[in-house]
Amino acid sequence: MVLELNRRSFLKRSFLCFLFGSASSHLLSSLSQSKETDSPFPKGFDRKAMFFKRAENNLIHCELCFRKCLIPEGRRGFCRVRENIAGELRSLVYGRPGGLQIDPIELEPMYHMVPGHKNLCVYTASCNFRCKHCHNWSISQSTPEQIKALYYTPKEIVEEASRQGCQSISHSINEPTVFYEMMYDVVQIAKKRGLLTLCHTNGGMAKNPMLELLRSMDGVTVDLKSFNQKFYQEISEARLEPVLETLKVIHDSNKHLEIVNLIIPTLNDHMDDIKKMCKWIVENLGRNTPLHFTRFSPSYKMTHLPYTPIKTLDEARSIAMGEGIKYVYVGNVVGHPANSTYCPKCGKKLIERTHFILLKNHVKNGLCPFCNEKIPGIWS
Ligand code: SF4
Repeated sequence: MVLELNRRSFLKRSFLCFLFGSASSHLLSSLSQSKETDSPFPKGFDRKAMFFKRAENNLIHCELCFRKCLIPEGRRGFCRVRENIAGELRSLVYGRPGGLQIDPIELEPMYHMVPGHKNLCVYTASCNFRCKHCHNWSISQSTPEQIKALYYTPKEIVEEASRQGCQSISHSINEPTVFYEMMYDVVQIAKKRGLLTLCHTNGGMAKNPMLELLRSMDGVTVDLKSFNQKFYQEISEARLEPVLETLKVIHDSNKHLEIVNLIIPTLNDHMDDIKKMCKWIVENLGRNTPLHFTRFSPSYKMTHLPYTPIKTLDEARSIAMGEGIKYVYVGNVVGHPANSTYCPKCGKKLIERTHFILLKNHVKNGLCPFCNEKIPGIWS
């Protein structure tokens, strides 16, 4: 049986099992059992990468993310999953998800996309960031060889989603940029089958691949980890600027966008930075972009830090609302009133949630039924 190496905090999953019973986790185990294999790269599960150029001396220039790795023959890029094999870039995780997991869509988090539906989540090994606080580090910091993958073609993933009654397929847990080709193929097939598709990304994907993906993908959740370049550099070995560019690209494409800001005590909890971030969101993405402030729990190389105080999350939310952002959520705090959605015009509670569980949804045809305010999102 494949171990569920899970991105979501154990607490989140325990809570969901408590509410839903064990059916969901059972289902996932049996999916894993039916498809796992020990053979390394069987025929048909190897795919030429997209978005690369050949350079001199058999070097390959990968153009998939902001790093733009120059990869010698026989070597891999920074993300460990794209290898220069005989002068051609290949994805090492195509058709090899680390697992398929069924969750409520709210767990992504994605709050304005057909609330409460079942979503099939796909993930693989590795990442193109190196976040010291990663909650899913056992997956994101592994090479493909270090996790026991399943063998599912994109077509089989979509079929599995339909069979399990899922309305959408998400690509998250680890960074979906690093399994771009599998995600891309899943999205094309899922669209033909009438399923919604989304991804949860760190925002480091380059512009052209993102534009190509957005031609078919319905929604994206982006982690805006901080509004401080130093944080990106020291905590994630990454850069802020490409993430801001990605946010603008998604917004300009008119696809549904939600933002997550995980607040980590002492590292990115400066209210001045949060205020600057909120102003930037309003100016560049608009007041309708849902923003989730989520609570940090000690993890990976950051186990010495405490949980985020709830008053810090409340303060950040007040700042965001003060700047005019209309839908501001508090995540990872069970039962917080800001788990729910309120109409920005009349103030009535429109979607009631506790944690990631939908309790009531009053939104009708994308409108507030009390005052007719248009609520941004995908509602059917
Ligand atoms: S996707 Fe991987 S190989 Fe390509 S530029 Fe980014 S880190 Fe490098």
